[in-house]
Amino acid sequence: MTQVERHTYDVVVIGAGGAGLRAAIEARQHGLRTAVVCKSLFGKAHTVMAEGGIAASMGNVNSNDNWQVHFRDTMRGGKFLNNWRMAELHAKEAPDRVWELETYGALFDRTKDGRISQRNFGGHEYPRLAHVGDRTGLELIRTLQQKIVSLQQEDKAETGDFEAKIKVFAECTVTELLKDGDRIAGAFGYWRESGRFIQFDAPAVVLATGGIGKSFKVTSNSWEYTGDGHALALRAGATLINMEFIQFHPTGMVWPPSVKGILVTEGVRGDGGVLRNSDGKRFMFEYIPEVFKDKYADNEDEADRWYTDPDGNRRTPDLLPRDEVARAINSEVKAGRGSPHGGVFLDVSSRLPAEEIRRRLPSMHHQFKELADVDITAEPMEVGPTCHYVMGGVEVEPDTAAARVPGLFAAGEVAGGMHGSNRLGGNSLSDLLVFGRRAGLGAAKYVDGLDKRPAAAQSDVDAAAERAVRPFDPRGGGVEENPYTLHSELQQSMNDLVGIIRKAGEIRQALAKIEEIKGRIPSVAVEGHRQFNPGWHLAIDLYNMILVSECVARAALLREESRGGHTRDDHPGMAANWRNRLLVCSTDGNEVSVDEQPQIAMREDLFELFEIGELEKYYTDDELAAHPGRKA
Ligand code: FAD
Repeated sequence: MTQVERHTYDVVVIGAGGAGLRAAIEARQHGLRTAVVCKSLFGKAHTVMAEGGIAASMGNVNSNDNWQVHFRDTMRGGKFLNNWRMAELHAKEAPDRVWELETYGALFDRTKDGRISQRNFGGHEYPRLAHVGDRTGLELIRTLQQKIVSLQQEDKAETGDFEAKIKVFAECTVTELLKDGDRIAGAFGYWRESGRFIQFDAPAVVLATGGIGKSFKVTSNSWEYTGDGHALALRAGATLINMEFIQFHPTGMVWPPSVKGILVTEGVRGDGGVLRNSDGKRFMFEYIPEVFKDKYADNEDEADRWYTDPDGNRRTPDLLPRDEVARAINSEVKAGRGSPHGGVFLDVSSRLPAEEIRRRLPSMHHQFKELADVDITAEPMEVGPTCHYVMGGVEVEPDTAAARVPGLFAAGEVAGGMHGSNRLGGNSLSDLLVFGRRAGLGAAKYVDGLDKRPAAAQSDVDAAAERAVRPFDPRGGGVEENPYTLHSELQQSMNDLVGIIRKAGEIRQALAKIEEIKGRIPSVAVEGHRQFNPGWHLAIDLYNMILVSECVARAALLREESRGGHTRDDHPGMAANWRNRLLVCSTDGNEVSVDEQPQIAMREDLFELFEIGELEKYYTDDELAAHPGRKA
């Protein structure tokens, strides 16, 4: 029998980014004993890296803003493939979640009259991103952590133990979910430092593990983002949706090579920065798609006037949704009009006084100075697309964040549906808080409703341990494989063959490569012991990256159209008959299957928030028959 440290909780939250912490706070506030488990240090999650801000229609800078406008922008950004109920809950609840953060101790930047300041961002009709300079994620995480500490102090006063009701397990990686029949019974993992195993017995698990970017070579994501939550959910019997939609953020650093992919916030463009090609031309005016023509300026004068008079002018196309800008940059580089290191120029230095740039964009100023020796107050940056965010994720019930497996919940980037085919900037931080809270609540209600606690079988725990240590004793026979080599081959294929522009033949090549890597996995070998051993950690992460990459590639091959974060060179247009078809991934443990599932039709009152003329660009005639514009 495997030696395992055991803990019993009501709810185990896997992930300590914004979604995980907000879920944990909610579960604890409902009186449940809650564990928060995170792979890296407490406080070091992607959320902390979020720069631009959190989208919420507070209407502080433009009073025309409201939840309906935010809802419309989100659906447009996602090209109407979003789960509309999630988009509705998100738009309605985001302002309350921002206010709530201030009650926890956050302090957002202010307007002159003392209200929370809001900045422009791509795809948002009005200035909507509440921010703290360009370090909003840091404030969000700091505040949620502070709230957890204050709850722990209450628990200490009541029980004498700080960790009586909420405890953080940092640098602890979950490798398997445990079940009792069809229900969740806990989670299994290891301490990164000692390599010792740990088991959580709990009837409810909230997945809040973030993204999958490390499967791609050029990415803004850091080492933890290996799709663990996506893979854990799949293996436990849950489903993933929208996995073909990957967001390539248009502006990542391109030089020097060691920092390629690191994010350059959209806030640079929101605050006045513009994209130029090697001829010095502001090329985005050439790339305004038909569906956005009436909303974006087609000349520099109007685009520049919009910054000071947004009601009287159309917005600058530098702030089109991310998928549009990323494709435009890709086309300019391909046409030979790129910057010396294969990107384009992002210029804020000629647009704002140096002092203002340092005040509004302190992190960007510091990042370029330190990493590229570029002073952004004096010269343009070089930028290009980088794999940033996965729209696809665990299929959840919108109101409760429940996955298809009883006892399993998911929130934040690991959950799918909310953003459809493309996420708007700033909509992630709000998503984390809205659905993190709902997941914590969903889990609490689920646990309260149970009459018997589930229990994991010892044989499942032994199997999880055996699987984890396999790289120390590979079974493949023949040549031993190095996990770093396999990882690098996977990243290169995903980048080159299932990247920003896709073709059927190339996706098939990627799938063949994934099959080949899968065949080599049993031979993956690592040296040394279980004590802090990054090679072993990567070997375990590889199982997840391969499974999730296969989902991305299989779904990408099936979707024969281009929409949001899925561009098919061989099917360039958006096809109305694909809009309401969701691709759902599942696995029986060996094979990944992808099945089609129809999108539930939008509720009538929400449908009517859009002009018929706009919907005609996305919907089929049959679907539009119910709209009052057609009935009339
Ligand atoms: P994360 O914050 O990613 O946290 C995931 C957690 O899960 C971590 O604690 C990790 O250690 C843990 N974890 C993962 N796997 C395991 C495992 N197997 N076992 C245990 N723990 C595990 N969005 C915006 O809205 N506005 C912005 O301005 C913005 N800027 C961004 C800038 C950068 C550089 C990046 C990378 C992203 C940005 N985003 C932004 C996106 C946004 O930050 C993320 O989508 C969001 O923070 C994800 O939050 P999350 O809570 O889902 O997960």
